[in-house]
Parts: sequence; C-alpha cells; structure tokens
Amino acid sequence: MKIFHCSHCGNPLYFENTVCLSCGSHLGYLEHRSQLVNLIAKNGLFSVSGDEGKLYRFCKNHEYQVCNWLVEINSNSEFCSACSLNRTIPNLENESNLVEWRKLEIAKHRLVYALMRLGLQVEPKKGIESSGIAFDFLEEITNAQNSEPVRTGHLNGTITINVAEADSVHREYMRKQMAEPYRTLIGHFRHEIGHFYWDLLINNNSDNLSAFRSIFGDERVDYGAALQNHYNQGASSNWPSYYISSYASSHPWEDWAETWAHYLHLIDLLETAFYFGIETGGHLNDGSPLKMEARFDPYLQQDFDAIIKAFRPLTYAINSLNRSMGQPDVYPFVISDTVLNKLRFVHQLLH
Ligand SMILES: [Zn+2]
Ligand SMILES: [Zn+2]
Ligand SMILES: [Zn+2]
Repeated sequence: MKIFHCSHCGNPLYFENTVCLSCGSHLGYLEHRSQLVNLIAKNGLFSVSGDEGKLYRFCKNHEYQVCNWLVEINSNSEFCSACSLNRTIPNLENESNLVEWRKLEIAKHRLVYALMRLGLQVEPKKGIESSGIAFDFLEEITNAQNSEPVRTGHLNGTITINVAEADSVHREYMRKQMAEPYRTLIGHFRHEIGHFYWDLLINNNSDNLSAFRSIFGDERVDYGAALQNHYNQGASSNWPSYYISSYASSHPWEDWAETWAHYLHLIDLLETAFYFGIETGGHLNDGSPLKMEARFDPYLQQDFDAIIKAFRPLTYAINSLNRSMGQPDVYPFVISDTVLNKLRFVHQLLH
C-alpha cells in the first residue's frame, strides 16, 4: 500500500486516516486518483484540490466509521465502489459486530484498492444470475433451532465471510486447528476474490483455460471429493515443492485461489517497500545476495523476474524485523520453482 501525505503539512498518512494527526486536516480517499486527499468543506460537501468544479460527499458507510472514500455528488450510488459490493453487513444492534465489521472493511477496502490498481473489473452483482461481486458478511447463529455453520467461501461472485474471522482469538484458534502458518482477513479476501476472477478471466477464455490446466491441473476433477480427501488424508508430505500452501494441493481451483492471493500479498508488500524506498543488503550463508532496492511500483512492473528478485530479500528483512520484536514471521512461506511458475502465470494474465 502507498504511504500518503497530508498536502497541508506533509505528515505521512495511512490509507484509513480521516484526519491528519499532525495538523487536523480532514481527509478522504478519491478512488479515481488512488489518493488520500485533503478536503475543503463547502456547504456540507467537499471540494478537492486538483478536481476543481467537482463536489464530493463521504460514502454512506462513513457514518459508521468503516469507510473514508469519497463519492461524487451526482453519482447514482450513495456508496463508494468498495462499499457498493456489500450485500449483507453484520447486524449492528449487536455492538461487537460494529467493531468486527470495521476490521472486515479495512481488509476489503485494501483489496479493492489493489483490484482497481490492477485494472480489474470491480462491479457489484445486481441479481443472482448477473456477473459482479457481492459480499455477505454473515454471523453464525447458534441456538437450539438453528446452528448452520457459516462457511467463508465463493459462489458465482458471492463471497461469504464469517464475521467471527474478524475476531483475532477465533481466527488464531482456527489457524491452529487447520495447522496453517498464516491466516488473516486480507488473506481471506484475496483468496475468495481469486475464485471470482478465475471465472471471469480463465473460465470464459479457452486459451487461458488450457494454459491454466497445463500449470495447475484439470479443474474438472470432482471438487467435493477432492476437498473431502484433503480433510481426511491431509496433503502429501512433498506439497511444498509444488504448492504455496498445503490447502492449495486440495484441488486446482484452490491452488489457483491460493496462488492469486499470494500474488496480491507480494505486490502489496513490494508497493509498501517502494513507497518507503526500502533497500536491503547482506547475503545468505551460501553467498547468495540479500540485496534489493524497491525502486519500482510493482503494479506497473511488467518484468516478473524483477519483482521476484526484489521480493525474496525483502521477506528475509521483514521476517528478521518481526523476530527482533519476538513476533512470528510475517512471511512464513517458501516459493518453490513450480510455485514461481504459477505466480508468473498470474502476473502474465494481469499484464
Ligand atoms: Zn496535516
Ligand atoms: Zn464506502
Ligand atoms: Zn477457495
């Protein structure tokens, strides 16, 4: 993610800021410019420097402090592009749901930022049969009459996220249950949206589909049986040579979604490094260099090798920083050559 700056005082700003903590300026996010901008108040609306003649208001969800994106006053939606994808939000009569919803929205807005920067279609789903994206943030209701579990997942553009995943205690419990090295909200969003773009970019294109099958395998194998098998038997012990995660080995669709999510992780980390001008030095025990300079915006970088060359040393550096603070590795993955090839396929598809 970019680091933004207050145009009034120059203070660095996070993507989620609504006020500059240094000078008190009010801020909003302008999606067509991918910029956090200082707001000039005008009769209850806002104008923005560089967008003269246009007037903005906040997205409707600003009132819940879950969104800082701006909407042009003549837009036919009261929601921004990220919030218009919501179909079901948690029941806000339960106060803890507002806290959890905020965390979900932080992850979802960061996802939508990345999708837009990649030039991907981000449209709300209008009806059950129509294309587009709809988010259902659902709570598990457990009482005597109804104890249907809520499964985080994707179906025809509808992405269901179990609200409990926003609770760090629940999520860590699930992470241990599933023996995963990494489980985050942004990871869920990146994974599930990957299924949506598989339908859009691969399933609808015969060339892409045959290229996909040659790299990820044939997705026509029985999905339900494959997942059942994965949960019963577990992944084979040599999965790290072929997959980014053990779950990715369950079925080509899951391999795709895990790889897609990983590509988004990689690009986001490198974008942050770029905006901070991060450079690393040193070398590994075998003499291979750990030198990198984040000199390019990864969203605009055509050369996948340049991305990987910068990325590997960066992960050593950030893991070491985390270890300095007694925290687990922020990047607990190893990219094999086979996985690298899969990531390259995602990159080529997007460029
Ligand atoms: Zn400021
Ligand atoms: Zn919004
Ligand atoms: Zn999946």
